[in-house]
Amino acid sequence: MTEKELTETKSVLTPAEKTNIEEQFRLLMENSPRLKKKADRERVEKAFNLAFLAHKDMRRRSGEPYICHPLAVARIVSEEIGLGALSISCALLHDVVEDTDYTLDDIRQMFDEKTARIIDGLTKISGAFTDHSSSQAENFRKILLTLSDDMRVILIKLADRLHNMRTLGSMPADKKMKIASETIYIYAPLAHRLGLYAIKTELEDLSMKYRYPEIYEEIASKIRQNEKKRLSEINRFSLPIIQKLEENKIHFEITGRPKSIYSIWKKMQTKNIPFEEVYDLLAIRIIFDPKPRVSEKAMCWMIYSLITDIYLPKPDRLRDWVSKPKANGYEALHATVMGHDGKWVEVQIRSRRMDEIAERGYAAHWKYKGERSVEPQEKELDLWLKKIRELLENPNDNALEFLDDFKLNLYTSEILVFTPKGHIKSLPKNASALDFAYEIHTEIGDHAIGAKVNHKLVPLSYKLTSGDQVEILTSDKQRPQAEWLNYVITAKAKVSIKNALKTERKNHIRIGKERLERKLKSLNINTTAYVVRKLMNAYETLTKDEFYSKIGLGLLNLDDVEQILKQKSRNKLVKYWTLQFLRSKGTPQKKNNEANEKKKKEKDTVLLRDNPLEEEAGYVIANCCKPIPGDNVVGYLDKEKDTIVVHKSTCPTVVRLAAKHGDRIIPVRWTEHKLRSFLSRIRITGIDRLGILSDITTLISKQLDVNIRSLSVDVHDGIFEAIVDLYVHSTVHLNNLMLKLSKIKGIESVNREEYSGE
Ligand code: MN
Repeated sequence: MTEKELTETKSVLTPAEKTNIEEQFRLLMENSPRLKKKADRERVEKAFNLAFLAHKDMRRRSGEPYICHPLAVARIVSEEIGLGALSISCALLHDVVEDTDYTLDDIRQMFDEKTARIIDGLTKISGAFTDHSSSQAENFRKILLTLSDDMRVILIKLADRLHNMRTLGSMPADKKMKIASETIYIYAPLAHRLGLYAIKTELEDLSMKYRYPEIYEEIASKIRQNEKKRLSEINRFSLPIIQKLEENKIHFEITGRPKSIYSIWKKMQTKNIPFEEVYDLLAIRIIFDPKPRVSEKAMCWMIYSLITDIYLPKPDRLRDWVSKPKANGYEALHATVMGHDGKWVEVQIRSRRMDEIAERGYAAHWKYKGERSVEPQEKELDLWLKKIRELLENPNDNALEFLDDFKLNLYTSEILVFTPKGHIKSLPKNASALDFAYEIHTEIGDHAIGAKVNHKLVPLSYKLTSGDQVEILTSDKQRPQAEWLNYVITAKAKVSIKNALKTERKNHIRIGKERLERKLKSLNINTTAYVVRKLMNAYETLTKDEFYSKIGLGLLNLDDVEQILKQKSRNKLVKYWTLQFLRSKGTPQKKNNEANEKKKKEKDTVLLRDNPLEEEAGYVIANCCKPIPGDNVVGYLDKEKDTIVVHKSTCPTVVRLAAKHGDRIIPVRWTEHKLRSFLSRIRITGIDRLGILSDITTLISKQLDVNIRSLSVDVHDGIFEAIVDLYVHSTVHLNNLMLKLSKIKGIESVNREEYSGE
């Protein structure tokens, strides 16, 4: 078991514990909106009695009687998700089969088939996590497969996880970390996709609290400090709205939309901005009770119109999820208006019903529509689960890769587009025409050549928007292309293209290899590793696979082969990465009195070379995240050491520092430069000893960062002689290098040789 620790105990319950358990059960029965019928109440009572009996000798790691856990999960299922008798009883029984002597058959006999199936699903999920033989990703895959059987299994599992997260404090540190990571990786996105916003937010915050306790505490304390100011701003903004709505006899509630600690932290990272900038953005929510005989939609727009009489709207930020709800059921009207001091404020307008759906998701629909009606939302979710199932069952797919794609899908919001026949397809925001093609069928995606959107011809990369009507044009000759991956975002399209490319690539490599061998044979040249390497260099390919597949694809012209192999090596251009600081150390982002005079005179942009000869670059690479060229990076000015520390922009350390000292953040980016390098040859002689060769190569390639082209070593009678061909920028560079080499222990002489090529 991962999320619970139980200890057998023979000690009987104390009277206080008994009273508490009875009280919890009474609250469960009383607070449930959906336990009105006698039969339903009896079912829940029966489940409670069995769970109580089954767990009676067990305690949780915290010391409390075990039954408190299923009781709490049942209350979440009932009060926070809004499910009925069947789910409540399954929540009470969810650990019985796994942790006690009762079997699934017992449950089937005492209750019914449906109950047994749900309990079975819940037990299997726990099993997936305890199976140490398979990888984490593989476990998640199993969970998702189990989850897609019955919606109630997901919802009860989420409630179970929520209660375990709420009581995570008594777990040992390593388990805390593991459970908190699983939560953020899979359970929070699932809650999001099911529209359970309140639960999703709580899971995210709790997970962060255990994964990054310091950052969590820091942001939480900042929120406490700034709360007053924010409330007064919200009041100032809301006052005219309240007046106007009251004049129009609208019953409503207006609240400042609370931001969760996790969402603030995430924004700080993705937008690379300090806490204050994230927290500064105001957002309010208006929840109204509809007037009799006026539709909710009409009310939303009426309120919108009243607000925009007061504040100027930003037209491109209007979001209408009332006319077309999101696929997870979310309904609301979002607008952004210009508040005081030119600040943009987001306003969310919802009816009481919409608000409940937004907070409690899927299950809240029942309260308004009755459990028996099959509403479109339910169908939508079933379809989504079916899609996951299809993806999971694809045996070619790498489990981890899949999960990343899958997670992307969970977080993006939807657009709705139409087929030529008018059927609606739901796709993630920013999906392309090609995503749509794959959404319809893999065959259509694989052979797509273009699309018609609203009857106009567009490329496959065309980004769709809600309401588009899309027709895909295909050709039998078409094959999936590597660059297609740049403009598809759905997991289904990505997986299909990757699979197709893998197969194609293998073919190209085989064809390319054969073609090259034939060519060399016709020239009477043996295909040796040296020949292949030389050709690869000439054609600027990095790996053999790339080289052969390019030949296979006909991208490389083999007519030059003979000439290339005859050619002597020439000087070549070597790529260097440099860091470009978009602000110097001395120019602070905000006003800073300490800015020192000398530094002020410097240009705002300093170009620092990552060059072996310019060691006084004034920056260091952070040890915690070790960014390499190409990573998104950010500089942090370390005042004590007077140097810029370069971190990955996602590094938690720099995020924490940025939160504290936003003004010390220095924008920086990698740029690519080509420096001319020259091939030179040096001869090194000395007395052979163990490790001398490695000392030489380490000094040259690691410490001095010089590219070695070739190296040959000869040892006779204890005398060591090495010939090294390397790329240098200048004679100064070369002399410097030779001087350093001569200082290595055992080296007698280092001389420059006339380089004559091959
Ligand atoms: Mn449990």
